[in-house]
Amino acid sequence: MSFSVEMARFIVALSISWFLTRIPLYLLPRINLHDLPLVDHPASPPVDEALILQLLRVRRAYWASIPIGLVPIVIGLLMIIQSPSSFGFGLIVGAAWVLIARITPFALDSMERYPYAMGLIHELNRIRLEPPACCPNPIPVWEIDGVRCTSCDRLLLAESRPDIGRRRSDNLLVGAMRVILLDGRPFTDAAEEE
Ligand SMILES: [Zn+2]
Repeated sequence: MSFSVEMARFIVALSISWFLTRIPLYLLPRINLHDLPLVDHPASPPVDEALILQLLRVRRAYWASIPIGLVPIVIGLLMIIQSPSSFGFGLIVGAAWVLIARITPFALDSMERYPYAMGLIHELNRIRLEPPACCPNPIPVWEIDGVRCTSCDRLLLAESRPDIGRRRSDNLLVGAMRVILLDGRPFTDAAEEE
C-alpha cells in the first residue's frame, strides 16, 4: 500500500476520532428532556438558579468526553493488535489528543482552570445567593465578557462567558463548529477589572 493511501487513512481516522470525542459538549446539553428556563441565545442570562443548573449540566457534558474518547482508543488498539493499521493509529491519536487537552488545566487560577471550572460555578452561585451591594436594585447578568449589574452597570465578576449549551440562534452548523473548535471556551477575553 502506498504511503499516501496510508496517510489519508490516518488523517480520516484522526478527524473522526477527534470529532467524536468533542461532539458530546455540543450535543448533550442541547438534547435534554427538561429544558431549563434560560433566556434564548444570544441574550445574556441573569445569574439565577437555572443558569447554575445549566452550567453543571454543561460541565458534565464537557467531562463526558473522557469515557466517550476511550471508545475510539480501544477500537484503535484492537485494530493495531490484529495488524499494523494506519486507521487504528489515527483513531488513537485523535481521541488521545482531545483527552490530553481536556485534562491539561488551562490556567492555574481555580476559576479559569477549565471552561466550566467548579470555582467559577461557586463564584456565580455566591453572586446569586448574596446579591451584590453595588446599588439598591442589583440585577446581575452574565454578559459575554463578565458578570455585570444591569441596574448600575458595575462589573461584578471579570470572567468571560463560555458556551452555556443553549440552542443557538446562529446557523446550526456554524454554531456547532464554533462550540466544537473552541471546546466550549469563551469567545472573548474577560473585561478588565476597574
Ligand atoms: Zn448595581
